[in-house]
Amino acid sequence: MDLNNIKGIGNKTIELLNKLNIYTTDDLINYYPYRYNVYKPVDLNLCNETLNVTINATIESTPKIFYLKKNLNRLSFKALTTNLLINVVIFNRAFMYRNLDVGKDITLVGKYNKQKNTFVASEIKLSCITETKIEAVYHIIKGLKNNVLSSYINNALSLETKYLDYIPEYYLRKYNFLTKKSSLEIIHNPKDVDSLKQAKIRLKYEEFFIFMLKINYLKNRNNKILGIRKEYDEASLHEFINNLPFQLTIDQNNAVSECLLDLRSNKKMNRLVQGDVGSGKTIVATISMYANYLSGYQSAFMVPTEILAKQHYESIKKLMENYKVNVDILIGSQKKSEQNNIKRRLENGEIDILIGTHALISEDVIFKNLGLVITDEQHRFGVNQRGTLQNKGISPDIIYMSATPIPRTYALTIYQDMDTSIIKTKPNGRKDIATYVKKENELKSVLLSILDEIKKGHQVYVVAPSILEDETRNLHDVNNLKISFDKAFNNKVKIDVLHGKIKAHEKEEIMKRFLSGDTKILIATTVIEVGVDVKNATTIVIFNAEMFGLATLHQLRGRVGRNDLQSYCYLISDSDADRLKVLEKSNDGFYISEQDFLMRREGDLFGTRQSGDMAFKIADLKNDFKILLQAKSDSAEFLNNIDNLEEKYIKLLESVTNVD
Ligand code: ADP
Ligand code: MG
Repeated sequence: MDLNNIKGIGNKTIELLNKLNIYTTDDLINYYPYRYNVYKPVDLNLCNETLNVTINATIESTPKIFYLKKNLNRLSFKALTTNLLINVVIFNRAFMYRNLDVGKDITLVGKYNKQKNTFVASEIKLSCITETKIEAVYHIIKGLKNNVLSSYINNALSLETKYLDYIPEYYLRKYNFLTKKSSLEIIHNPKDVDSLKQAKIRLKYEEFFIFMLKINYLKNRNNKILGIRKEYDEASLHEFINNLPFQLTIDQNNAVSECLLDLRSNKKMNRLVQGDVGSGKTIVATISMYANYLSGYQSAFMVPTEILAKQHYESIKKLMENYKVNVDILIGSQKKSEQNNIKRRLENGEIDILIGTHALISEDVIFKNLGLVITDEQHRFGVNQRGTLQNKGISPDIIYMSATPIPRTYALTIYQDMDTSIIKTKPNGRKDIATYVKKENELKSVLLSILDEIKKGHQVYVVAPSILEDETRNLHDVNNLKISFDKAFNNKVKIDVLHGKIKAHEKEEIMKRFLSGDTKILIATTVIEVGVDVKNATTIVIFNAEMFGLATLHQLRGRVGRNDLQSYCYLISDSDADRLKVLEKSNDGFYISEQDFLMRREGDLFGTRQSGDMAFKIADLKNDFKILLQAKSDSAEFLNNIDNLEEKYIKLLESVTNVD
């Protein structure tokens, strides 16, 4: 239903709601509170708590207003609460003056000082709360008050007649779940803690059930689909492998064999190649694409950032130089005419390997005979995007590559629809990256170490969380760091700045200068997080390290230590040292992701971004893992035992396989 069906919602409000990703009444109903305020009125005479108490009271004197400063005023009045006459003070509520008549019953929340007999209220409610009251608190934005949003939601709830429920009858009864309707009513207007808990569990289960249904469906589908049996000349492939600039590690060799076996079989390949940062996944992809080329098919290689696309393009083109393979790149920042040219040549079969960002999945990109699709840094793409690229060919083989920033137990669940190859060991001669957590006031020693490395001819990354000065949060930003570094090194060291807002062609120039060794220090935001490969860089300094999840820090650290030189990582932070020290101790991505999972704060697990896979509304991966496992086996059981799926499930599952 459209939002303007709801009382009080006009175009202005719709704009505000859109900012919260609310576009329909259904979105509104499913916009869950992130926490609750619990009001339980107490008797001040009997109360030991003095902080954050809720009391009912009657106003006994006309309030006085004091204007203290421009943005500061104070209301004070006397009130009677269970035969105690107290002084009430509340700041910045002058606007409530008219509503505070003598004799009125109100509820106050705040702090009571017994000696002064003064109640400093932080909240004032114009009605009496008799029993316990639980109030939903939503993430809001400027212009939209919590209680207003709440009234919209309740309005939408009362208008809605049909609630889409994805939990099948059988499980509803089995677990004695609340109905969808009442759980939604409770989640927005809880009456007591017990039923709130039940409503939450039910909604979490449903969310996981839907998610696992998609995964299980993909798995079943993949098992049934026949792929293309690829045939290529083994001798030519071996020649290619033997002429690589390095020898493959044992794990790389195994991964390559597994991919090739899948290519040659008539089963459709659906394989996840997992390997820590720097373990050398790209070459596995490259060899597979070459085999696919030898079989006469096109390959698509999709990566999450343009920088990465360019880098892969350059290195793969170089490796293919002597083999008549046409490698090309398609990214959003190219000129339309250039893009059209590439699309035309792609459709004619003049391009063998196309590398790109999700520009590759736009509708007008048509392959002549797509045989292999590879996505790099898979965790950046969502379940719904998984199906998109493969629809472009007649059942192409699929390889996903991921640096596993997720714990093993969890990976088993969400990637269970795939076969996996694991690359554990790093290429020979790689040393662990020496990692140090440093305080801001130890920066000088870090600068000296940087200078040492630069003198040895090596290069340095410096990472900061923001682009511009951020006074409110007091974070380092790349522009100011450039100024400080220039000053510290007397302008004698060549430094560049890189971030997402810089124009594409400039970015390219900056990366080129760094790659050529011309620039010694690259100060960047996390745009360099994934995949960037500059072998000569041996040091990375990360400012405000406390702002990042461990998995992100590990990925960032993986930018150095990419050849046999000893590399260094400095995590600069004045807080959160215990968590950061996990990185001092370990270079093992699997271990770090488990630790991250255990220690993370809300929303931290996958760095600052939530990948499409992980965007749950109410369920929480860490705390609700048991519910996830239950939903996993139930959804598999459900799919296996049903012959005709209801319409709503068909619609749901179509979203997994159709173009977004
Ligand atoms: P990731 O797994 O993080 O994507 P890359 O594929 O980018 O890692 O490889 C990291 C670096 O290691 C690259 O510079 C690559 O050329 C190099 N490399 C990969 N395999 C080997 C190997 N067997 N021996 C030596 N260097 C290798
Ligand atoms: Mg990579």
